[in-house]
Amino acid sequence: PGTLHIVATPIGNLGDLSPRALETLRTVAAVCAEDTRHTRQLLSHFGLERPLLALHQHNEEQQAAQLVARLQAGDSLALVSDAGTPLVSDPGFRLVRAARAAAIKVSPVPGACAAIAALSVAGLASDRFAFEGFLPAKASARRERLGKLAAEPRTLLFYESAHRIEEALDDMAAAFGGARAAVLARELTKLFETVLDGPLEALAAQVKADPNQRKGEFVVIVEGAGDDADAKVIEGKRLYAKLSEHLP
Ligand code: SAM
Repeated sequence: PGTLHIVATPIGNLGDLSPRALETLRTVAAVCAEDTRHTRQLLSHFGLERPLLALHQHNEEQQAAQLVARLQAGDSLALVSDAGTPLVSDPGFRLVRAARAAAIKVSPVPGACAAIAALSVAGLASDRFAFEGFLPAKASARRERLGKLAAEPRTLLFYESAHRIEEALDDMAAAFGGARAAVLARELTKLFETVLDGPLEALAAQVKADPNQRKGEFVVIVEGAGDDADAKVIEGKRLYAKLSEHLP
């Protein structure tokens, strides 16, 4: 059987595509991509032209069976996403699960990942961290999720897009307390790379005041809850609110 290579691609700077990633993409029978147009552009930048197969949220389950059959027949395949490491807030988990269930070799070609890149420059505790990916789009669900994380002692990592960054920071300040330390990593490895740090309240104000700070792609990193009174008071209030829903 062939091998399924899970290949990380750059999160902005094309110089971050590794030589091994290039070599893998050059030699596989086909490249499974989240957005084939996007990946065609990436490949052509490196002078590569490979057969591309679309694998996204909506067709992954059906495609996985066909791709596994192809791997079993001897073809090796690569999986890439639009940016960074596949499966990290990106498609691929179903394909990898199906391949592993069929005893196909699944091999990583590691590289850029926005969350890890941000963590590496944040200067917040990095020995234990929890990756939370994207928060729910709906305000009520987002606040509920954040509320449950208020007492989490590990450093928290979130992905956020330009159009929700303001609300997200406001909601985080409300859920965790405005004094909680945080880092906002924007446009990493790109022209306008910016890493801001400060208490959540100050970061929210800074982003509100400067429209440029709302552009692009973001990783938000929030310090875990300490033993400080703030976190305990907030958690206490949350539990009280939850309990009082059930009280007469
Ligand atoms: N698989 C990717 C990875 O390994 O990082 C993540 C894909 S997810 C669909 C896209 C999100 O990742 C963006 O909304 C943003 O939160 C984050 N992201 C991607 N590139 C980034 C960059 N250059 N700087 C900051 N955040 C980035």
